[in-house]
Amino acid sequence: MRIEEELKLDFKDVLIRPKRSTLTSRSEVDISRDFVFRHSGAKYHGIPIVAANMDTVGTFDMARALTGHQLAVALHKHYAEAELTAFFGALPAAATVFYSMGITREDYDKFRRVKEAAGDAIGLVCVDVANGYTKNFVDFLHKLRAAYPQITIMAGNVVTGEMTEELVLDGVDIVKVGIGPGSVCTTRKVAGVGYPQLSAIIECADAAHGLGGLICADGGCTSPGDLAKAFGGGADFIMLGGMLAGHDECQGEIVERDGVRKMRFYGMSSRAAMDKYAGGVANYRASEGKEVLVDYRGPIENTLQEILGGVRSACTYVGARKLKELSKRTTFIRVTQQLNEVFGSQ
Ligand code: 5GP
Repeated sequence: MRIEEELKLDFKDVLIRPKRSTLTSRSEVDISRDFVFRHSGAKYHGIPIVAANMDTVGTFDMARALTGHQLAVALHKHYAEAELTAFFGALPAAATVFYSMGITREDYDKFRRVKEAAGDAIGLVCVDVANGYTKNFVDFLHKLRAAYPQITIMAGNVVTGEMTEELVLDGVDIVKVGIGPGSVCTTRKVAGVGYPQLSAIIECADAAHGLGGLICADGGCTSPGDLAKAFGGGADFIMLGGMLAGHDECQGEIVERDGVRKMRFYGMSSRAAMDKYAGGVANYRASEGKEVLVDYRGPIENTLQEILGGVRSACTYVGARKLKELSKRTTFIRVTQQLNEVFGSQ
């Protein structure tokens, strides 16, 4: 047993210090990014925010809504082959949509068939496992990279620099970072495993960037300010689940509680998800996600403006004309309090 004494930070532990700036308006800020992916060589242009591959977030409807605004979507992996083929077949070329999969033989075979039918319409893949530290995962990535040299691979999840480096060297273009911070994740409680998300972002971004790779900060953002902190800490992409939940595009089940409309939202390792897709929780494992009811919020459009407006505002406060400059211009200050809650926490 060993104890690491160095302080690790979450979003709630810091604020971003304002800096002198010549920017006069948020509208002068450009929050898109351009990347050339390390392995695939593909070019990317867009607002680097990705809807999570959860079945009530990463839907076809969400993809149609977000790609219209230059955001990205990781589709959930439970769509049928025919649905995926039809969807990708109708996709405009500029859209950033990730095909998601796990690492089983069936996942791989399904991907091969869909890719064959959809062709170049599938250029981005998200390989998602709860624990990105296993040899199985690394072996799978080698196989995938060898078979598809031109595909852009996002894969994870990990939370440490050394595993980020390993994945970049294994053929991953975007390393997905985050274990335990998610809004409907219970891993920290069930397994006692995790890593404060802001420190994970800072350390993994540093490791990836040193090798020409990128990271996607996945999980734990609860407000637009958290996105600003994640980008400020070095995240190239940010994946959002809970912040995008509860909208029409989520296609989730709506229920009424005390006259208020709510929508069901659950973790992909929750009992609810396993009952739906795997015939229940297997007897050797515990569920590592929970189910909640979130407020029904109508179309995603309004929420989107709020999120993008927040990131633009952060850029303005530190004088970053482009999102790319935000991390260079970010100084975090450690705080003991985030908000004045005299009138509640909203
Ligand atoms: P959020 O933006 O809601 O805080 O986090 C979304 C992320 O939580 C997802 O992208 C995924 O990485 C993670 N996640 C989703 N469902 C589960 C789950 O059931 N268990 C765990 N441990 N993580 C989950």
